This record gives sequence, structure tokens and C-alpha cells, in this order.
Amino acid sequence: MNRIINFSAGPATLPQSVLEQVQRDLLDWRDSGMSVMEMSHRGAEFMSIASEAEKDLREIAKIPDNYKVLFMQGGATAQFALIPQNLLGDKRSADYVLTGDWGKKALKECGKYAKAQVAASSESDSFTHIPDRAGWTLDADAAYVHITPNETIHGVEFHDVPDTGSVPLVADMSSNILSRPMEVEKYGLIYGGAQKNIGPAGLTIVIVREDLLGKASATTPNVFNYASVADGESMLNTPPCFAWYVSGLVFKWIRDEGGLEAIGERNQRKAQMLYDYIDGESFYTNPVAKQNRSRMNVPFTLANADLDKAFLKGVEAAGMSGLKGHRAVGGMRASIYNAMPESGVSALIEYMKEFVRTQG
Ligand SMILES: *Cc1c(COP(=O)(O)O)cnc(C)c1O
Repeated sequence: MNRIINFSAGPATLPQSVLEQVQRDLLDWRDSGMSVMEMSHRGAEFMSIASEAEKDLREIAKIPDNYKVLFMQGGATAQFALIPQNLLGDKRSADYVLTGDWGKKALKECGKYAKAQVAASSESDSFTHIPDRAGWTLDADAAYVHITPNETIHGVEFHDVPDTGSVPLVADMSSNILSRPMEVEKYGLIYGGAQKNIGPAGLTIVIVREDLLGKASATTPNVFNYASVADGESMLNTPPCFAWYVSGLVFKWIRDEGGLEAIGERNQRKAQMLYDYIDGESFYTNPVAKQNRSRMNVPFTLANADLDKAFLKGVEAAGMSGLKGHRAVGGMRASIYNAMPESGVSALIEYMKEFVRTQG
């Protein structure tokens, strides 16, 4: 077996110890005589897996009691449509702060259900920074303010939680959920697909304040109505059982690593190491304003784009993968989520140095 160092933006690398546990459990989970994939989701075995995962998530993320945790399907992209359908109530509009392509997609989808307003955008600067909070044009009568705390493609991240007063803050945390202490109480709703920083694709986590439930439009499908999902403990129909189980193992792994404080410090060190190298080497460039740089996704370009192919070919030969940048930005992107060890980032930097020495 030879595992690569995987910088994929998502689905992304998982902790090896979790995969080994999955392997041990695969044919016979805790003497049940079955795989988690083969169990009834209503049986005692899976019910215990499901409730333990929620308990562990609540504990590591310090989720207050007045928030529901929903285990849904459809990815963050489904949530783009479900959020306005569930939260609009008797309001007519929602505000969106655009700091990258994912926020734009969320805005567009909202437009089918509500007046989707751009409260601020850095698009004219190619999404290389976060617009100053002072310049946002927030509508006090909006149903919510939507932000993307980490824009996965552009590598732009909020490092504080913006104050939106009495208008609930809604956050697409797909690519930085559980990457540091979360301050859940500052949000009305947090959501994210599991496949970047949590577990396998197919599971979507929604953390929602209870007072925001019960406002869904009458045409919202029942399995996508937050209040119904909460009442049914995310078991209105068959949930993504296996993804839920693996995610539960990841929550335990986070706890064993020292929780979100320790994970956050490690993520900070990893990102700092890579940015320090990029900033000190003129051959590589990251265009994002320093105070808004992502700790999760680090895009960078080479001084000569003709060398991109050689860079990618060499990096693969050195045992690394997933570094090709998104087509919207070009160049490279290193996604360094929770499960990427510091040694993986060091290996990438060593390769980058060697590439400059031989090709730069
Ligand atoms: C990956 C990603 C999405 C899309 O997630 P799906 O689960 O594939 O729908 C949305 N928002 C952000 C910030 C992402 O990183």
C-alpha cells in the first residue's frame, strides 16, 4: 500500500486512523455480524452510531442547546435553494456577501425564491479580498445575511464573524467547518457538505437556531423542511448511513487530537508555513490580501504558466496529488484541511523549492 499525500479540494483526504477503523469495522461492526452499510437505519446499532455522532459533534463544536443539528443530503448546493425556502417566512429578501464563486452560486439559487440582494462583493477585484464590513449595504428587513466563511476556489477566508445585528447570519462552511473553534452562537445557521473537512460525500450538516425553524414555504419538500427534519431526528427517510458513521469517527478523531483549539493551531501553522514560503519566493504568487487568506485552500501561480504541466507531473512523481488549480483561478491549489498532516505541507514546500532550483 502506498498512500499519496492528497491535496484534493474535495472529496478530500481523511485521517488514516479513521480509514483503518473503517477497515476493521467493515465486515462486522462491533460484533453485530454486519457492515454499517447493511444495517437498518432504524435498528439499535445504527441509532447508537447516529446519536453518538451528534453528541460528539455537539461537544467538539460547542453547539448550544438551542441549536438543532440536521444530517441531510443534497450537498451545500441543495442548501443554496433550501435556505431561502426555509428561512424567508414573511420576508421578501435576503442579503448575500460575495467573496468568491460559491457565494455567487448561492445568490443565484436564492433568486428563484426571494429577492436576492448583493450586500457587498469583491468580484471586481477577482475575489482577492473580503469587502470591509463598514461598506456592506445591509437591509434591516432581509430574512438573513449569507456569507461563505471560506471560499474554496479563491482561497479567501473570514477570520472573524461579522456582526449583522438582529438579522440572522447564515454561513456556508463547507470547506472550513471544524477547522478551529466555531462560535456557533454568533450564527443563525451554519451548513456544509461533509466531503471536505468531515467525511465522505453524501452527508450535509446543518446547524440551525431553533427560533428560525417553522417558517418554511408550503411547497418545501418534507425531507428538505428543517423543522420536519429536526422533528424526525434526520430520519424521515433513509439517511446516508455510511457517511454519517464515518463522520462520527472523524468527530472522535478531532476530540482525540485535542479538539478544535488544537486543530485550529495546527491548521494555522500549516498555512503559515506555506504562505511564508510562497511570499519569500518570487517564482510563486498568491494574490489574496494577507488578512483574508484561507488556512484551508492555498491557491498559487507559477511565474511562468508554461511550467504548470511540468510542476504537476513532477509533484505526482514525488507522491503528491490534487494540486491542479481550479479553472477559474488557474495555477495550483493546495487544500490543506484538518486531515492533512504538517509533514504533508513540508513535503510540498520541499518539492516547490526543488522545482525552482531545477526549472525556475
Ligand atoms: C464544495 C463547496 C460547495 C459545493 O458543495 P456540494 O456539497 O458539492 O454541493 C459549496 N460551497 C463551498 C464553500 C464549497 O467549498
